[in-house]
Amino acid sequence: MNQSILGLHHITAIANNAQRNYDFYTHVLGLRMVKRTVNFDDPTTYHFYYGNEEGMPGTILTFFPWEGIGPGRNGTGMATEIGYSVPADSLDNWVGRFREAGVSTDEQAERFGEQYLPFTDPDGLAFTLTVPKQVDSRPAWETEDVKQNIATRGFHSVTLTLQKIDPTAKVLTDIFGYRLLAQEGNRYRFQTDSVPEAAIVDLLEEPDGHAGRTAAGTNHHVAFRVANETVQMEFREKILASHLQITPKIDRDYFFSIYFREPGGVLFEIATDNPGFTVDEPLPELGTHLKLPQQYETSRTRIEKALTALKTM
Ligand code: ZN
Repeated sequence: MNQSILGLHHITAIANNAQRNYDFYTHVLGLRMVKRTVNFDDPTTYHFYYGNEEGMPGTILTFFPWEGIGPGRNGTGMATEIGYSVPADSLDNWVGRFREAGVSTDEQAERFGEQYLPFTDPDGLAFTLTVPKQVDSRPAWETEDVKQNIATRGFHSVTLTLQKIDPTAKVLTDIFGYRLLAQEGNRYRFQTDSVPEAAIVDLLEEPDGHAGRTAAGTNHHVAFRVANETVQMEFREKILASHLQITPKIDRDYFFSIYFREPGGVLFEIATDNPGFTVDEPLPELGTHLKLPQQYETSRTRIEKALTALKTM
């Protein structure tokens, strides 16, 4: 069994309108909604999970859509850009697709020898589609409009913006087993060799940068992946030993989680592969029912009433 951090598990961000969020991620970006549940700490709010067919760790983007929440602001102490991996020669196709859908994009560019296309979601959340140097062999979810030749394969990378990168870099290298791969300007690329994909974390150093504000269109936390709870508990001990505070293990129904704030201010989570999204829905039906954690099942009628109904066609 692998004892390492296996790259990214999921990234969680904040949105405003739930329907607009659903439409963008399933129709425009072509992801699969793999779970529709509620915020376990506030069951009047949805929690959406998008990913590939099975919601493989490293492909999972999750949202809390808080209706009416104001816009946040990217800045230091937060994850400021999510990178998706896409097939070679697909970027021009995406430019056309985004233009038709009214998605805000920036010029294609290159960093660390890889072509990428920046874009933002309807809440202003920042992304890139990146063509990785090595072909990404992960299976893509296909929709009517987004076929294998352009479909995202899951995460390529995440970017953290920091006033000083050193304390965060130390967590990545000394605890998580990443190594510094390259540097371009104030961007430092770290990578783990434990997995072929979703293996990159970029640290962007902005000594004079302003602190970010977490609200709509910003990332809430970044979850790293471990095989199981035994490995997770070993990492919990290592993090405690480096004098950082960390939560006990929390059951998120689809994985087990521990959370800690890394010294640069970003909320990190370590999440397990087990049990996965098929624990309460069969694979062909993932994301098609409103799933509630056990403690809320008795209040289902009241909770369903409080949530805005979602049009999924
Ligand atoms: Zn999480």
